[in-house]
Amino acid sequence: MWISYALADSKGETLRPSILIDRLKRLFPRLNFSSDLLADEQEHLEMVSTPKAAYKYMTAHMRNAADGKEDSLLWWLVYDWYKRHPDEEWAHRIGMLTEGLFHQNQEPSLGREKAVALYSLPVKASVSRLEQYVKCPFAHFVRYGLRPAERKEYTVAAPDLGELFHLSIEKFTARIAVQGLDWRELKDHECESMLDDVMDEILPEYNHGILQSTHRYQYLSKRLKRIGKRAVWLLTDHIRRSKFNPVGHEISFGLKGTYPPIEIGLADGEKMLLEGRIDRCDIYERENDLFINVIDYKSGAESFDLSDAWFGLKLQLLVYLEAMLEQEQRRIDGKARPGGIFYFRIDDPLINTKESVGEAIEKEIRKKLKLKGLVLKDVNLIRSMDNKISGYSEVLPVGVSDKNDSIYANSSVLEEEDFIWLIKHIKEFIRELGAEMLNGNINISPTKKGDETACRYCPYDGICQFDLQLENNRYRLIPSLKTEEVIERIRLRREEN
Ligand code: SF4
Repeated sequence: MWISYALADSKGETLRPSILIDRLKRLFPRLNFSSDLLADEQEHLEMVSTPKAAYKYMTAHMRNAADGKEDSLLWWLVYDWYKRHPDEEWAHRIGMLTEGLFHQNQEPSLGREKAVALYSLPVKASVSRLEQYVKCPFAHFVRYGLRPAERKEYTVAAPDLGELFHLSIEKFTARIAVQGLDWRELKDHECESMLDDVMDEILPEYNHGILQSTHRYQYLSKRLKRIGKRAVWLLTDHIRRSKFNPVGHEISFGLKGTYPPIEIGLADGEKMLLEGRIDRCDIYERENDLFINVIDYKSGAESFDLSDAWFGLKLQLLVYLEAMLEQEQRRIDGKARPGGIFYFRIDDPLINTKESVGEAIEKEIRKKLKLKGLVLKDVNLIRSMDNKISGYSEVLPVGVSDKNDSIYANSSVLEEEDFIWLIKHIKEFIRELGAEMLNGNINISPTKKGDETACRYCPYDGICQFDLQLENNRYRLIPSLKTEEVIERIRLRREEN
């Protein structure tokens, strides 16, 4: 009996043998172990049996040869045997093998002329487009250059749920505005019934009534309502705790937006116009200063990592904040200042608590759905965002000591100057991206941070054929810096300027 196991997966990543292999080794200490990779000359010879069986081994050894690895010369003789074989089938297979061994999937740069023709000037880019370029220039080229359309299926996928929640919150807030209601005066039962009405309006119409089409989708509709109610409850709860007032929902900036686009001058005199849509913006005025919070609603778990912002993987919130700062600074006499940037998670989490009292459960929900993001390092401002803060905030990613008003060290906070310079760094980064994009870079070069790769949810793997076995197909490793390290880099940049 032969028992075999793979040493690596299809991407070349090491695999560990099953625990059973270990058990077998212990049960039968005199078992013979051998590896195709570490075979001696005699074992190589034993692999050459029938043409069909030997072909499989020959291809693996030819791969080694193509990669410049040392191997038995025997396989060149085997290769030669197939090549000289009179049967056309073998000649055809050897032809395919040679093509495969030297296959290249990297495309040369498009060149400036073609890139300009493809993307047209001035480049109008959304933040998600820039983030896509950072993650993989080739995926960006496919999505925004070639623009293949995905076949539409009559189904409800994750992006649909996000869209439904955005739509329901948008309509919910529009009703509050139309009816002249005050967020802080809203009772929980009023929020619930208003959200019920909004959902009853949206769900039957959505995507040709798909949510009414099966029992499964009808159940999903009920779940969506429940999650939506939880979201508006939490939204109102946050606003009640805060002195910040929502001044806009779904605020668009861009050529056709409510506000003009952010203009980024590129090195060669060209410009890039940044467009986007801000889910919510809150404002608080303190004397002559106007503080701005930007909030983005997310239906999935989304965390904010300063290191990702520094390396351009998470640009959205900071670009949106810059759009609002620019806009408000033009409008007011005083100073527009950053307050915070946040992801607001839309979910109805499972609470595991022995307490059955409503207040205790609500507290747990708040903690589970705490805002993720970055807050200005100003204790008075933090108290203006959460008037119930005592120690760790239930709603913000910060903690404040009741004794001496100091901000806890592990809070997600940033000094104002660091905020400003981080935004400057990001604008400079975008300027460089824009130049690179217009020079036609379409490299297959996905990012990898820890275990997370840009390829994970990318629908274009069939087009790029990214394969670690190919010599010039490699991940771009993105480091994970600690907050202090990012702050150090921000300050260094400030000094350099
Ligand atoms: S699968 Fe990976 S390498 Fe291929 S286009 Fe997508 S992100 Fe880039």
